[in-house]
Amino acid sequence: MPIPRCYNTLTRSLEAIQPRVGEGQKLSLYTCGPTVYAHAHIGNFRAYVFEDLLQRHLQERGFIVRRVMNLTDVDDKTIRGAHAAGIALSDYTRPFKEAFFQDSKELRLLPAEAYPAATDPEQIVRMISMIGTLMDRGHAYQAEDGSVYFRIASFPEYGKLAHVDLEGQRPGQRVASDEYDKEAVADFALWKAWVAEDGAVGWESPWGKGRPGWHIECSAMATGMLGEAIDIHCGGVDNIFPHHEAEIAQCECARHGQEPFVRYWMHCAHLMVEGSKMAKSAGNFFTLRDLLEKGWTGREVRYALLAVHYRGALNFTMEGLAAARTALARLDAWRERLAETAGSETATVAPDAATEGFFTALDDDLNISSALAVLFETLRESNRRMDEKKLTPPQARGLLQWLARVDGVLALEPDASAAVISAEVEELVDARAAAREAKEWKKSDAIRDQIAALGWTVKDTKDGQKILRS
Ligand code: AMP
Ligand code: ZN
Repeated sequence: MPIPRCYNTLTRSLEAIQPRVGEGQKLSLYTCGPTVYAHAHIGNFRAYVFEDLLQRHLQERGFIVRRVMNLTDVDDKTIRGAHAAGIALSDYTRPFKEAFFQDSKELRLLPAEAYPAATDPEQIVRMISMIGTLMDRGHAYQAEDGSVYFRIASFPEYGKLAHVDLEGQRPGQRVASDEYDKEAVADFALWKAWVAEDGAVGWESPWGKGRPGWHIECSAMATGMLGEAIDIHCGGVDNIFPHHEAEIAQCECARHGQEPFVRYWMHCAHLMVEGSKMAKSAGNFFTLRDLLEKGWTGREVRYALLAVHYRGALNFTMEGLAAARTALARLDAWRERLAETAGSETATVAPDAATEGFFTALDDDLNISSALAVLFETLRESNRRMDEKKLTPPQARGLLQWLARVDGVLALEPDASAAVISAEVEELVDARAAAREAKEWKKSDAIRDQIAALGWTVKDTKDGQKILRS
């Protein structure tokens, strides 16, 4: 079986993804999840769709992937939101969690094995225990403000992921906020002492009442759920520093063995809007809901996010969505044509060996452009052969089987519900048949328009009317 390779942010090189010795085909995958202070925007979903493609391709290659995604439901932003809304933190974050799961389904993301939330009592216990270990080993200290900080000077490897040079850094400088620039490298907060703005949010700890910092949340949830040595860890590029850098520092200073916290770090480029990162703070974002309301489907958004290589620049535009719609319509029409050609044939003839190129392209750091090129070349070539009536039913069946494997990775097959014709459309189709029978052409055309308005196209064939999704 070919071995997929990925670009590892840690080593800045392409590496073969190999399971750890003794783990068989098992791979663990940790994916940083949403901060549930608002609806996730489709920039966030670019990261999740990339991770989904990775998981699905690894599974196609025979790996058994255990994926965990966390929910950040306590941090500066969620507390601020709950405070402004005048409600409890859990009441504030609940609808955003639910919306995230709904949107994930709409975008056909495989569910993770677990979605630990930072406020789960067992996770808080893990965080406190991890901070305790860091304190015991001299990697953390409690400052005058009551908060506990990670001592960067105690971990010379700090900066290895983002390639930050610690030279010239002033030891002892502290930063309380979870996000800071590389230029402002400083001891970061593990446990934030309770302040009045935190209201009812806070947990007792050996260092007094407070709450965890964002970075320790992920470190504790990742290792708690998947073990101290994780195979693959993903996120967007903005997560590299300080979030993932801090995760490495915490985990590698608190671990019991010697294995690296993570062997392969993979990060996707940002989804951009007119040259800027799509972000809540910039106000230039679309949620999936916004797009569904405008009449786009989850499948179309998935295609638009998926069709560009995860490390490449992707600018969000409505033209991009329209192009996704056109590409999907071509795929759907091809699929139907293949099914018609295959008929009730069960024997298969394997498609041309070149079709395997779809999967080998994805082995190459998820080279989706090459994979899609193979898919559309196969479509063009077999359509040409169907035009010439040269594609045999077993060949069509073989192509459909290959397409089922492709579907397993891309998840772009038509919605199951899209194929179900409603009773209303059925009635119109019957009425149109009657109108045609009576040679009432005007009436028949008017009914065709009504059917079109409901999203279906009528084709008149020698066997009668054929209804297709438009
Ligand atoms: P957050 O909810 O901000 O913690 O982000 C959740 C995930 O979405 C992280 O992996 C981020 O790196 C990723 N992310 C945020 N904005 C974008 C964007 N514009 N494009 C791609 N990924 C993003
Ligand atoms: Zn994280």
